Amino acid sequence: MELPRNDLVKWTGGNVSGRDTETGYVVIKPSGVKYEDLRPEQLIVIDVSGNVLEGDLKPSSDTASHLYIYRQRPDVNGVVHTHSPYATAFAAVGKPIPVYLTAIADEFGGPIPCGGFALIGSEEIGRVVVESIGSSPAVLLKNHGVFTIGKNAETAVKAAVMVEDVARAVWLALQLGQPDEIPAEEVVKLRHRYRYEYGQQ
Ligand code: 13P
Ligand code: ZN
Repeated sequence: MELPRNDLVKWTGGNVSGRDTETGYVVIKPSGVKYEDLRPEQLIVIDVSGNVLEGDLKPSSDTASHLYIYRQRPDVNGVVHTHSPYATAFAAVGKPIPVYLTAIADEFGGPIPCGGFALIGSEEIGRVVVESIGSSPAVLLKNHGVFTIGKNAETAVKAAVMVEDVARAVWLALQLGQPDEIPAEEVVKLRHRYRYEYGQQ
């Protein structure tokens, strides 16, 4: 529900999953169901190989890609996919989002990369995500949208909210002129402060 609430998806677009750290089971949204119509019992529970353990509906079209990410990244227990418009505009033209803002250094620790085009329906999207995301929690997927990862589903949702927020600010900035990139050594300092000093720790 955080996806429509934060204007990151419309109608049935996008998807979200989380992996239970005890069982390794993954819970994912069913395909093509409106978020406001979703009930907890409609969510699909699967193992990491894709065997359905609970749920009667067809799982998300991006299920194989979510599972590929979980198999490759034991540190990741949440995956989110959106078509949030400002970030997806960068994806449409295949452009990464450079570190033009301190918020980008804080949240992403570098530019938000853009991976190549992949068809929906197989684990191909997952492969592109894993090979392009680097140490960022978010990656743009050429001609498609955004994928984010996190230590749990909520962290991945937060990254999806932040990608759209900074993409919008960068888009606005580009209407005014050419922003300067924050130098790499300052990006490292900003990221460190945000991770280890910012907030209530
Ligand atoms: P699902 O409704 O099947 O999850 O598909 C939405 C989507 O964005 C596919 O990339
Ligand atoms: Zn999509």
